[in-house]
Amino acid sequence: MKALDGKQETKSNRATEYAEQVFETVKARNPHEPEFLQAVKEIIDSLIPVFEKNPKYMDYSILDRMVEPDRIISFRVPWVDDLGNVQVNRGFRVQFNNAIGPYKGGLRFHPSVNNSIIKFLGFEQIFKNSLTGQPIGGAKGGSDFDPKGKSELEIMRFTQSFMTELSKHIGPDTDVPAGDIGVGAREIGFMFGQFKKMRSRFEPGVLTGKGIDFGGSLARTEATGYGVVYFIQEMLQHNDLDLKDKTVVISGSGNVSIYAIEKAQQLGANVIACSDSDGFIVDTDGICLETVKRLKETGDERICEYVKEHSNAHYSDNCTDIWDIPCDIALPCATQNELDEDAARKLIANNVKAIGEGANMPCTHAAVDLFLEEGVLFAPGKAANAGGVAVSALEMAQNSSKISWTFEEVDFKLQEIMKDIYQKSMGSAEEYGTSGNLVAGANIAGFLKVADAMIAQGVV
Ligand code: NDP
Repeated sequence: MKALDGKQETKSNRATEYAEQVFETVKARNPHEPEFLQAVKEIIDSLIPVFEKNPKYMDYSILDRMVEPDRIISFRVPWVDDLGNVQVNRGFRVQFNNAIGPYKGGLRFHPSVNNSIIKFLGFEQIFKNSLTGQPIGGAKGGSDFDPKGKSELEIMRFTQSFMTELSKHIGPDTDVPAGDIGVGAREIGFMFGQFKKMRSRFEPGVLTGKGIDFGGSLARTEATGYGVVYFIQEMLQHNDLDLKDKTVVISGSGNVSIYAIEKAQQLGANVIACSDSDGFIVDTDGICLETVKRLKETGDERICEYVKEHSNAHYSDNCTDIWDIPCDIALPCATQNELDEDAARKLIANNVKAIGEGANMPCTHAAVDLFLEEGVLFAPGKAANAGGVAVSALEMAQNSSKISWTFEEVDFKLQEIMKDIYQKSMGSAEEYGTSGNLVAGANIAGFLKVADAMIAQGVV
């Protein structure tokens, strides 16, 4: 028995040392990329039990290879504004890993975009895409272009210039971008038009999130937000709880937030708050989604306008204070690191029961640790917000087979995928000794499929 214990300790030491050594190398190579390091650290910490049990992943240096993108493309995006001035932005595409399918991941247009942001998103996308069970690899891209306050013509000129360069690197079997912050159906439409013009071919499979009239999938717009709520519902039900009559707070008021609000309300929850980057609104009567959609989806307004139409509602101009509001369920659906340790403490003090990450990495490492320590049900973004990319993969499947499924068909498939992701993540957590920890479970389940494919394909 002693000998066995000794062997176990040696395996454990080797796995921990390997994980530490990989992280030290990543830190040394990417010194000014805090978000990327944060995303890598979370994955590496979760994988130690996998390396202990299956040393082959260390022997094949799988992690060393996974943390290094296949390639990073960075380019100039010149465009002319409405006053005739030439403007220059930066464009990025990080093609991280295509072991299980063509690169796939959204494009973000936001002034904060830089290498670190795109690499953290692209790295997370590898594991998320693997979890969906669909044949898609991991990528992400975008630009530091700020769409706020730009005219439609400026947005069109910018996206056309962006696509002129990006088109050299993408294709239905190569890399298939989609939307993200600042990139919705309008921008995807402009990019699709430019791609089509440059190739003189109608290739719908090159982008997802397209308009329904030219190859888009029904339910893609709703998929991420609905998927988050399906995942939360599954998690609650496995813990003998239900969404019905629960008080819910959702940050943001963009694509993910709006459709998370819609599905939560359909399932009987009372959603009382949402936000934008200026502030948040509280409406204890329940958020009027029609107003939010008019202000933020079809219009280009600020969320503070909501209180002009709903006299019972209140507006506060500090968006991070949204987590002070007592609620049963909190869904951060806006942006990375929007919910920190202090916010987590307040939510816990107010007896929050479950957290679901609609955004990518919205909770800081310390906040996640606190939720897990305190036994709050926690659904990590990689699993909970995978519905968007899953339906994007369904859009690709419809495009390549030239068919269109109904809204109900896609929505049903989405529900099945979200249940499957929940079960896979729980199963992996159980198998690797972290029962109930969906952060570890999702990371492990996502990793294993990609790692096995990489081993099977040799050192490339
Ligand atoms: P949108 O651009 O549609 O919306 C983003 C929303 O978040 C806006 O309402 C924006 O407000 C708000 N916001 C930004 N920063 C803050 C902040 N610090 N506090 C409060 N609100 C803020 O983006 P999406 O809804 O598409 O994306 C949201 C998140 O979900 C991102 O992390 C994205 O990566 C992730 N995601 C998106 C998917 C998708 O299919 N769209 C798929 C999977 C993940 P304002 O109007 O002021 O800018």
